Amino acid sequence: MLKLPIYMDCHATTPVDPRVLEAMLPYFSERFGNAASRHVYGWEAERAVDLAREQVASLIGASPKEIIFTSGATESNNLVLKGAAEFHREHGDHILTQATEHRAVLDTCRALERRGLQVTPLPVDRYGRVSAEQVREAITDKTILVSIMAANNEIGTLQPIRDIGRVCREKGVLFHTDAAQGLGRVEIDVEEMGIDLLSLSAHKIYGPKGIGALYVRGRRPRARIAPQMDGGGHERGLRSGTLNVPGVVGLGKACEICQQEIGAEQERVRGLRDRLRDGILERLSDACLNGHPEERLPGNLHLSFARVEGELLLLGLKEIALSSGSACTSATMEPSHVLRALKVGDDLAHSSLRFGLGRFNTEEEVDYVVGRVVQEVTRLREMSPRYETAEAL
Ligand SMILES: *Cc1c(COP(=O)(O)O)cnc(C)c1O
Repeated sequence: MLKLPIYMDCHATTPVDPRVLEAMLPYFSERFGNAASRHVYGWEAERAVDLAREQVASLIGASPKEIIFTSGATESNNLVLKGAAEFHREHGDHILTQATEHRAVLDTCRALERRGLQVTPLPVDRYGRVSAEQVREAITDKTILVSIMAANNEIGTLQPIRDIGRVCREKGVLFHTDAAQGLGRVEIDVEEMGIDLLSLSAHKIYGPKGIGALYVRGRRPRARIAPQMDGGGHERGLRSGTLNVPGVVGLGKACEICQQEIGAEQERVRGLRDRLRDGILERLSDACLNGHPEERLPGNLHLSFARVEGELLLLGLKEIALSSGSACTSATMEPSHVLRALKVGDDLAHSSLRFGLGRFNTEEEVDYVVGRVVQEVTRLREMSPRYETAEAL
């Protein structure tokens, strides 16, 4: 039986996997200890944190000592960018990033510019990709950090992380990637990809909100950043504050499940996404795909429907949890910086939808969504005077 509403917005957040919740529950009740306490309650919490650190590290090919728990990817991105800027102030003042980063990177860069740093946001191609060559050409002797996301949260485009990592290593510049979307959905290995710093978040991988981590390379070469939170010196001095033990346990479990299931899950979710894409594009004219046709997250579909107002479309599809593809953030109704960077026209940008499929979506749900999207786009086009004009031409 199909259950409504249908959740298809896995880039915004994901439901907590029941196995993750089960692992967390004891740490809200009988195992409530502070992981820093030196008694039996503390040791129990500490053991759970140690296991979670191993689970997170294992998913990205790191060592447990290189994992710093934070409140999520926003905090990890702030810590990396501000921490690198502070630590390497003497060596340089230039940060290299790209135009379609998450606001947690771009807004932090803007804050650093106000402190006098130079930031270069590289332009992307029409699929939302930067190239390693662009990175190579833009690195100067003042560059202290390159920050390029693994996968985009709107259009799902994957960046050539491995190639960029190689260039950064060659040039001796720290390489950070915001992997909040990429983690658990595509393979990421910090050794193979030459990543020095990596941000991740539990709630994008079927874990709880408010917990994440930063990977900080420990050797060959050690990545150095300055802490941005002072206090008891937790997390090797990089992030003070009593650990959120249930959250940490949940993040660890979520990573363990991703590692075990990523292969099968990728295939299944990609299959659902392709079914959704083909179902809609075969039945509707004047609809197009945004982002890269192949180099994209398995669960991401981003479509523009000519002559349809995206917000109206969402209103008509109330029983389906989707995001407007233009992700307008301000009162100005400007399309998102991501579609801007792809040079998608404002009209098409305002007529787009972002579908985020994940672990718990079913074929039945996909077929329902295909039917409803086709029905609603057709209805809105028939009502629109713009559509009639276009048809008459
Ligand atoms: C969700 C997301 C973030 C923010 O993560 P939080 O844990 O919610 O702070 C950062 N970057 C990307 C790419 C994201 O998708």
